[in-house]
Amino acid sequence: MVASATIRVMSAEEIAARAGGETPFLHWPEPGSLFAERAMRLRQLARGHAMGDYLAFAARLALAQQSALADAPEPPVPDAAAIARARASGEPPLRAIDWPRAPQWRALVRRIATELRADAAPATRSVLDRVLEASDDALEAQAEGLLERTPTGLDFGAAPIVAAALQVHWTRTLLATRERTGSIGEAIVRLPDETACPACGSPPVASITRSGGESLGQRYLHCSLCSLQWHLPRSKCPHCLGSQGLAFQSLDVADAADGESRAAQAAVQAETCEGCGHYLKIVHTDRDPQVDPVADDLASLTLDLLVAETGLLRHGLNYLLLFDEPAPDPPPEPA
Ligand code: FE
Ligand code: FE
Repeated sequence: MVASATIRVMSAEEIAARAGGETPFLHWPEPGSLFAERAMRLRQLARGHAMGDYLAFAARLALAQQSALADAPEPPVPDAAAIARARASGEPPLRAIDWPRAPQWRALVRRIATELRADAAPATRSVLDRVLEASDDALEAQAEGLLERTPTGLDFGAAPIVAAALQVHWTRTLLATRERTGSIGEAIVRLPDETACPACGSPPVASITRSGGESLGQRYLHCSLCSLQWHLPRSKCPHCLGSQGLAFQSLDVADAADGESRAAQAAVQAETCEGCGHYLKIVHTDRDPQVDPVADDLASLTLDLLVAETGLLRHGLNYLLLFDEPAPDPPPEPA
């Protein structure tokens, strides 16, 4: 059963005052552990879970991502002039749909598929074979469809594998950009559109609250593609940036005596917005230090189903959880 809880949201100023300092705008992915920690969390969540097999598969996929990231060669990065142009126009410098993909991402997808194939179940093996047999052009078409979020022609079975390679490639590119430009302030800055990743322009998977240092209690949005986390004040809806009618829902036993307080303390919640009718999951590190935005979003699909029943639309994008939805109606013909 879903339980609702109304929580007073601290203003950005209150949170900053409590933290006693300036809130860092970005949290960078940790290349040595990003995907390995996700794999560990997925394995933990898989135990006794109705979607246990898929979570266990996702854990193996995340481990393959970790080893691919460790060996990924340095990709091309934008030069100072390109970064300056992006800044001047308020655009992200590594925009997923514009930044040319270096062909090396295809080596990553083949490597990941090969690694998974070794101990895959027969049904999964046929999907992996499809990926391994795909031509360069076919893989590029799949990448295009995923990054532009056009479901027509997308191989939904193969999508998590292709997306996993794109995540590794963009994470590597993001980190290489930071290394090359030297200063984080130069390359990636707060954009006019705070709802999209300031590095690659992709939507978030979910929010994460930080429990340490100068980010104490602050909310960050976790990029679905490049793994960067960017700060957004908790008083703003991550979809419409409005601050009215925000509430939280969680999976909890609402009719239990302590249901409401348990809902308010849940490590995974859906942050809902009356203003725009959307929701985004939020995971809290102070309530469970092992939460991971991607893994916990995937493992809380039941929360999506229950929130969707109230008519709210999902804002988060999780490449492990894509559905073959019908394409939106085309615009009406001009009269
Ligand atoms: Fe990003
Ligand atoms: Fe909203």
